[in-house]
Amino acid sequence: METAGINAKPTIAIVGAGFSGSLVAIHLLRMARASLRILLIEREGAPGHGIAYRKQPDCHLLNVRASAMSAFVDDPDDFVCWLKHTPNHSRSMVADQFMPRRLYGDYIQNTLQDAIAAASPGVSLEIHQGEAIDLKLEADQLKLKLDNGACLHANHVVLALGNPGPADLPAADAKLLSDPRYCGRAWSPSTSDAVRPQENLLLVGSGLTTLDWLVGLHDRGHQGRIHVLSRRGLLPNEHRAAPPHALSFDPIALPAHLRTLLRRLRAEAAAVQQQHGDWRSVIDALRPVTQALWQGLPRVEKQRFLRHLRPLWEVHRHRAAPSVLRAVHTLRARGQLQLLAGRLQALTPQHNVIAVLARLRGNRGEWRIKVDRVINCTGPECDYRRLNHPLIAALLAHHLICADELGLGLNTDAEGALLDAQGRASSQLFTLGPPRKGQLWETTAVAEIRQQAPRLARHLLDRLGLRSGAPSR
Ligand SMILES: Cc1cc2nc3c(=O)[nH]c(=O)nc-3n(C[C@H](O)[C@H](O)[C@H](O)COP(=O)(O)OP(=O)(O)OC[C@H]3O[C@@H](n4cnc5c(N)ncnc54)[C@H](O)[C@@H]3O)c2cc1C
Repeated sequence: METAGINAKPTIAIVGAGFSGSLVAIHLLRMARASLRILLIEREGAPGHGIAYRKQPDCHLLNVRASAMSAFVDDPDDFVCWLKHTPNHSRSMVADQFMPRRLYGDYIQNTLQDAIAAASPGVSLEIHQGEAIDLKLEADQLKLKLDNGACLHANHVVLALGNPGPADLPAADAKLLSDPRYCGRAWSPSTSDAVRPQENLLLVGSGLTTLDWLVGLHDRGHQGRIHVLSRRGLLPNEHRAAPPHALSFDPIALPAHLRTLLRRLRAEAAAVQQQHGDWRSVIDALRPVTQALWQGLPRVEKQRFLRHLRPLWEVHRHRAAPSVLRAVHTLRARGQLQLLAGRLQALTPQHNVIAVLARLRGNRGEWRIKVDRVINCTGPECDYRRLNHPLIAALLAHHLICADELGLGLNTDAEGALLDAQGRASSQLFTLGPPRKGQLWETTAVAEIRQQAPRLARHLLDRLGLRSGAPSR
């Protein structure tokens, strides 16, 4: 058991070594010019991989072309250059391709190793394997407790906790939740290993996680029936090359009503299509202003968006690689895959099957079926008041953080400082990426996190007085 005392050396602890945490560490290593200790704490897997980019089958692809996946805003070719210098990799055409996600984890891990090697004298990074389960203020430092008994002190802590897992399905019988035939962690590679080729499956949810499952089942020659059930029964759209488009109106200047914005966007997309363009160009043109649009909406409009428009937004904004959708079309054409819109009513384990009852959308009646296995692909549970996460529970109990009122994340200020229960911004506790969804909406993808990470690193070093004027590269 390690119990480090109060630090003499300025220390920044980062909880979570996925893309967000690793990228903050990389920028700290590159920018710090004086003595600094960085603690990177991860409960599972190697740094850089996180949930999205861990070891997994090669058919699990990035949902963005390689050319747009650099970790650095100021060096847009960095990922493509890294790919070209990676052994055993085709050097041609990588920029246009959707690369395996596990390669992206290797890229971030390598970049972190390079940053450690090139750091200024006195600037160091320690990796701690373990789950952070508690955090308290002690004197003027923060004291982190890990599940392996270690205690670590830091001047600042960055919570880079990523996407929480899905909530358990409310329709599931309590007995089913501990039954191995119910897969609650759809992102875990071991979950798919357990599936036998003949099994009939129910996948609940129809977003990008479901597509990962479908392409994986297709590639492994799955023979059983696959049923996909979600509220709307919509799959993500396919990526196609769509040239940049300048909107003919300023969305920020519109009245803050969803209906007005939606009407203008539909008209704009129709006009673009009439000129033989693509609606994707219109959706992509919104990206730079999405955060400002979200922040300008009154709460009631945000709630309306979450209730009615969210599924439509998700399938247009979060698109999938063409090869993934080809696999899905093959499964459907064979009659092996059924996609349904409806609401799950009950999942009941029986002797050797699970009985499924759903109510189909549009008064189309009940749907009853028996399957061998149920996979929960409903996406992250973002209501932090309901998470089964010891550190979050402890921070809420200590009133050091506050869940966002829409149930999308944690309250933060513009720098990512966490707000306490009284709404005061912490000078020591920060976050970035997915937990900021309530404030920013568009904050979970590489494109946003690569902007937040250097800004947060700079802010922390300024607070500690450790930054020279030099840029991070
Ligand atoms: C399956 C999937 C695929 C995606 N694909 C893409 C894509 O192709 N392109 C794109 O731009 N975005 C993609 N995303 C979006 C993704 O959110 C970001 O790209 C990015 O991976 C987020 O990184 P993160 O570090 O914030 O989160 P994560 O990758 O979730 O990492 C968080 C890390 O924190 C650790 N952790 C959490 N709590 C603790 C604790 N208490 N103690 C210690 N460690 C802890 C976790 O183990 C995890 O490793 C994808 C997301 C998912 C889930």
